[in-house]
Amino acid sequence: MAEHLGHLVGGTVAGSPSIRGGQHSADAALVSFDVRGYAARRNEVSPVERRGASQLSPYIRHGLLALGEVWDAVAGGPGRDVQKFRDELLWQEYARHWYARLGPASAEPLRRRLATTEPGDGWDPTMRCLNEAVAELEHDGWLVNQTRMWLASDWTVRHGRNWRRGEDRFFRHLLDGSRAANRLGWQWTTGLGSAKPYGVSRWQVEKRAPGWCQQCSHRDACPIEDWPDERPMVSVEWPREVDLTGPDRVVVHREPDTVWLTAESLGNNDPALAAHPKLPAAFVFDEPLLARLRLDGKRLVFLTETLVELAEVRPLEIHLGDPVVELADRSLAVTHAPVPGFETRAAALTPAETHPWPWLRPPRPGSVRSFSAWRKGSNRS
Ligand SMILES: Cc1cc2nc3c(=O)[nH]c(=O)nc-3n(C[C@H](O)[C@H](O)[C@H](O)COP(=O)(O)OP(=O)(O)OC[C@H]3O[C@@H](n4cnc5c(N)ncnc54)[C@H](O)[C@@H]3O)c2cc1C
Repeated sequence: MAEHLGHLVGGTVAGSPSIRGGQHSADAALVSFDVRGYAARRNEVSPVERRGASQLSPYIRHGLLALGEVWDAVAGGPGRDVQKFRDELLWQEYARHWYARLGPASAEPLRRRLATTEPGDGWDPTMRCLNEAVAELEHDGWLVNQTRMWLASDWTVRHGRNWRRGEDRFFRHLLDGSRAANRLGWQWTTGLGSAKPYGVSRWQVEKRAPGWCQQCSHRDACPIEDWPDERPMVSVEWPREVDLTGPDRVVVHREPDTVWLTAESLGNNDPALAAHPKLPAAFVFDEPLLARLRLDGKRLVFLTETLVELAEVRPLEIHLGDPVVELADRSLAVTHAPVPGFETRAAALTPAETHPWPWLRPPRPGSVRSFSAWRKGSNRS
């Protein structure tokens, strides 16, 4: 990996010490997840043993686990826990619908923007709550939802920094980093795309990570002791929406000779892969894109571990280059991915056969302006 992909990563090429790629690891993580206690412990940060979060997100992000499969897997658990967990799966589904309707416009504040932004970068390493979270982000490539909110809130709500730089920072390190959930999370936490900002303050740290504040050098003069003051904001217009949701049935133009795998859908159950068990599959490490993104090496190791496992069960080619060039002479079967990057590449490659994205809730024309509005619309389906 260092030889072929080393020039594309930020930092060294090494995997996450706690999360491995591959279908086996995904299946094992799902089987061993116990939903009991999830509702009470989902937001716990420290000690790690108290956490109720499933840590399934990298597998969900890359399509190794479909949301429907995860939804079904918790059936029969305690009602309150199952409901809370499934609510979170619906947040993931909402993020995907939201992104498919906003596309690149999701990079701009949706409801209001900060009147002025402040310079500066990073998080104060002398604050235990922030430093522990940053260390976990960079070391493991994963964070519980609670510490994601602390870091995003500290960045923009407390320090008035441009949220996009913080979002990019997360995206570079998270194994589950997706523009859909990451941008939604930042827009929601900072209040730029939600009803009000979330203000991180000491009481949340004391509640979710008991003991940290006592061991912090700021314990007697905590900079986040009180609720932050609201920063002046300016309302903005909701942008013009697009539609990247894709087909609702298989679209066939000609006979395929290769299954094109994308980073959105790398599971053994990828619909295009499952429909053509005898065809070779091809994945392209998108060199121009990766050169721009400079992701942490952990994500590329995660993807490679996944591909290597897949290569044990069927013929697989791994390319490095521009997908539009690498796959130009192929007749491709592919699963639609509801993201702008897929749209542009598929427009150039004109796949022979496109399978619909495996939605948990089929796309509807209703509002995606808030989770509750979207949910009402999708319940009617
Ligand atoms: C600032 C910020 C950035 C985020 N960036 C991402 C990201 O890049 N990728 C990502 O998948 N999630 C992101 N999230 C959402 C959420 O924090 C993670 O999905 C969750 O922490 C993953 O851990 P888990 O698998 O243990 O989740 P669990 O609590 O076990 O939940 C199960 C699954 O539900 C989904 N889920 C849970 N909470 C959310 C949520 N708030 N929004 C969307 N889906 C959710 C995930 O697929 C998760 O794997 C972000 C949240 C915030 C506040």
